[in-house]
Amino acid sequence: MSNITVCARFRPSNSKEKQNGNDSGCIRNIDSETFIFKDEKDEEFVFSFDRVFYEKSEQSDVYQFLALPIVRDVVVDAFNGTIITYGQTGAGKTYSMEGPGILECEEQNKGLLPRVVEGLFDSINSLDEEKTYSIKLSMVEIYMEKVRDLFDLSKDNIQIKEIKSRGIILPGVTEITVLDPAEALQSLSRGIANRAVGETQMNVASSRSHCIYIFTIQQEFLSRDKRTRFGKLILVDLAGSEKVEKTGAEGRVLEEAKTINKSLSALGNVINSLTCGLPGKASHIPYRDSKLTRILQDALGGNARTALLCCCSPSAFNASESLSTLRFGARAKHI
Ligand code: ADP
Ligand code: MG
Repeated sequence: MSNITVCARFRPSNSKEKQNGNDSGCIRNIDSETFIFKDEKDEEFVFSFDRVFYEKSEQSDVYQFLALPIVRDVVVDAFNGTIITYGQTGAGKTYSMEGPGILECEEQNKGLLPRVVEGLFDSINSLDEEKTYSIKLSMVEIYMEKVRDLFDLSKDNIQIKEIKSRGIILPGVTEITVLDPAEALQSLSRGIANRAVGETQMNVASSRSHCIYIFTIQQEFLSRDKRTRFGKLILVDLAGSEKVEKTGAEGRVLEEAKTINKSLSALGNVINSLTCGLPGKASHIPYRDSKLTRILQDALGGNARTALLCCCSPSAFNASESLSTLRFGARAKHI
């Protein structure tokens, strides 16, 4: 059985796409798992995923299917989990992850993050009293293979280490203990605001960096030996997967694109070696090929639960990028 859930999501077409008359050009839905995708040359491709979220899907559908089972496993059994949004810039990654805003957002529009926060606390509160829990939150951004602390922008080159007792850690990174959902949301919104500040300082678009939200859930057994266990839930809003060659990029933009491309390929390679690995045969998993995969090392594979949301525009104008996103997802699922 595979521990990776792969879903595709098509956002509604925007006013520009509607004006150009090429909205919804490329999808013919069959059912909740399978659809036909037509590219700009009218060639047809059939894709199947664990679930397809069409334009009218609700944020809560996405959360229920993709995130809630992982939240439960992290809280109840101290599993590690990763939830990733992938796709070209403008495809709906951040909308799916954050919603239109973290604070003061209408209930139905809330993204995965605020729902995960509520889900974590709800799961904890619904358990019996034999354990105590604490939740810590860190937020980092990876830009040009450097890891920056989004709660303290002066920490702009955080290292990644692996230690026996805890797995992958980020020494020195700010960890905020959050006692309730409101506090967690405040912290998240502060990290997101800091991200914008950092990007303005460096003149970088947010779509060119990976944003990583790390929840560490510590459980301590009250009875027995006071044993503690840790579960880690990581949410990743990836940098845009679009190719830049066609815009004639040069200089920093080209370097950015190459770096992003390299880390997204590394992610794809890691996921593929995890899903294609022959049972009982230890295969080499290339976690060290990028900062992204290194940070995710103990939250991908093994006992970890992984969900990948492949975000796409519904417009024929973006068909080639959408096709590349869907192929990334199909390869991850190995189907
Ligand atoms: P990305 O993070 O992939 O670059 P965004 O999440 O910022 O893309 O989405 C681009 C635009 O589309 C935003 O204005 C966002 O509000 C809108 N959008 C994306 N997905 C949806 C959706 N499912 N429903 C409504 N609006 C959406
Ligand atoms: Mg975004």
